[in-house]
Amino acid sequence: MLRRVSLLFIVCLLLMQGNVFAQGAPSSAKAHKKVLLLMGTRFELVAVSENEQLATKAIDAGVDEIKRIEALISEWQPTSQTSAINRAAGSMPVSVDPELYDLIVRSIKVSKLTSGAFDISFAAAYKLWKFDGSMTKMPPPEEVAASVKHIGYERIILDPNNHSVFLKDPEMKIGFGAIGKGYAANRARDVMRKMGIQAGVVNAAGDMITWGKQPDGQHWYVGIADPAEKDKVFSWLTASETAIVTSGDYEKFVVIDGKRYGHIIDPRTGYPASGLKSVTIICPDAELADALATATYVLGPEEGLYLINQLKGVECLMITDKDEIVASDNLSLHFYQNKKSPQKYNKEANAQP
Ligand code: ADP
Ligand code: MG
Repeated sequence: MLRRVSLLFIVCLLLMQGNVFAQGAPSSAKAHKKVLLLMGTRFELVAVSENEQLATKAIDAGVDEIKRIEALISEWQPTSQTSAINRAAGSMPVSVDPELYDLIVRSIKVSKLTSGAFDISFAAAYKLWKFDGSMTKMPPPEEVAASVKHIGYERIILDPNNHSVFLKDPEMKIGFGAIGKGYAANRARDVMRKMGIQAGVVNAAGDMITWGKQPDGQHWYVGIADPAEKDKVFSWLTASETAIVTSGDYEKFVVIDGKRYGHIIDPRTGYPASGLKSVTIICPDAELADALATATYVLGPEEGLYLINQLKGVECLMITDKDEIVASDNLSLHFYQNKKSPQKYNKEANAQP
């Protein structure tokens, strides 16, 4: 919880105090901002403009877009099309809006890319875990093992002719917790940009996309929290046309017998994934970054780093559960305290007790 808060704090600090780092010529444009709860998350929308009225209108349009997407895709809202698909599991296909259909197609692509580490049909295992503090003992291992049988993106049957989706297994459910915020951030950015906002930020609790530059002409800067000294930034990322998305175990987790279990499920085992505290993905697309952050978290430091290093234009920064910092080959960070540098993950060194 704390670490998530500190990352958020740092991100906000930067957006407000960008001038501290600025050397560019001042302009009359200002960063207008709105913070509100959407998709169960604290969203922050920033529009840079000389025209306050336009900025306010664009931010409101961005908010409406996020609400529209939530109503369409949320597995928690009974009236959503996702809920209709889930209710019809095992009985019949459901025709949905092309927008939702395409999101499912793209989700399955990410599943294939990540060998199933990212899988929107994770729910059968997820429901055995409660991340609200009410859980005190582990679920029975046989139930966890049985739940895995109801996970499998290969059994989401799609028909492109009528945009229908059919979950073959009656116990199967889909959910967009690991990709929906990224999709919504992309779309809110698109809506605001179309209205003439040439620079801004959409930030969903640390999952963010930036475009253009700050009012002073400088790039956006995003701070990465130091895992050892939680309230300190240890490095900066320069961001423009960039999504920066973090997955981790600090927001939703449960502690059982002193061990921490986070809300990201390894679809291969049904247990919460372990090995990493957080993964930050940096790439131009917030939806892809969101899905890859979750997948990389499941894959762990070795396999995850290998995957990200294969993907052009995608970088990552991971913090392992031993507080090591691991970066992808082409990640460019600006070191603030200059006392640490990201490590290349070393299997042998990590084998030592
Ligand atoms: P956050 O929502 O904190 O940014 P993520 O993007 O990693 O974190 O999403 C985690 C959420 O995704 C979980 O709460 C759950 O709804 C869903 N989820 C859990 N495990 C998986 C998985 N292996 N693949 C896809 N979605 C998952
Ligand atoms: Mg995600």
